[in-house]
Amino acid sequence: MGAQRPPAHWPPPWPDITDRAVLHAMATVPRHLFVPEHYRDQAYDDMPLPIGFEQTISQPYIVALMTQALRLRPTSRVLEIGTGSGYQAAILAQITPHVWSIETLPELAQAAQKRLAALGYPVQVRVGDGRLGWPEHAPFDAIIVTAAAPDVPPALVAQLAEGGRLVIPVGETTWDQLLWLIQKTPGGLRRELLAEVRFVPLVATMSVGQEDDPALVAVRQQLQELFGQ
Ligand code: SAH
Repeated sequence: MGAQRPPAHWPPPWPDITDRAVLHAMATVPRHLFVPEHYRDQAYDDMPLPIGFEQTISQPYIVALMTQALRLRPTSRVLEIGTGSGYQAAILAQITPHVWSIETLPELAQAAQKRLAALGYPVQVRVGDGRLGWPEHAPFDAIIVTAAAPDVPPALVAQLAEGGRLVIPVGETTWDQLLWLIQKTPGGLRRELLAEVRFVPLVATMSVGQEDDPALVAVRQQLQELFGQ
């Protein structure tokens, strides 16, 4: 497949994906250029695929569902945790030019950055532990985590703008993960259950060392009330 665009029948009709910007992004970003060559003919099947290093590019429907839940506008500032292939970042960048993405594996980060640049997506990728967020560019209107965490990292909630939205799979194992939307409202944090999901784990690569950070104490307390974490 040499084309730079998905085939005409893509995306499939997902009844609950109605956001036009999301559907347009799905119809525009060439997913086949984000998967290993060996899997290219499966790029427009609605399923996750391996991208090396025991990681996967997410199922397209889940990408659409998570992106829709962020309610992005062309001015939104978005942080992604788990760059992987860069596909989700490209979908975000199709909607807003203000996208930052953190990946823990240098090989994946480098390949994704190169691929995104070659396709003209202005995403800034950096290697690091996404649980810490990217404070230099906070606050974010939206944060999307594409690996499953046992707990919601407090730094991510702290880096959300007022009214901001965080979409994150939470679960201890592969089999108990729930996809949550967390909103920062003037009245406090709110959560909404989006789906049951299966993601690779969000790994802890650095000691967070933020236990005494006063800015995170209130966030931790709110998360405890919300999730019992
Ligand atoms: N969004 C990706 C799919 C990501 S798979 C895509 O569209 O292709 C999850 C990714 O999260 C993997 O690449 C994994 O290496 C990365 N990851 C795991 N723990 C992380 C952490 N603590 N910080 C940043 N990235 C992490």
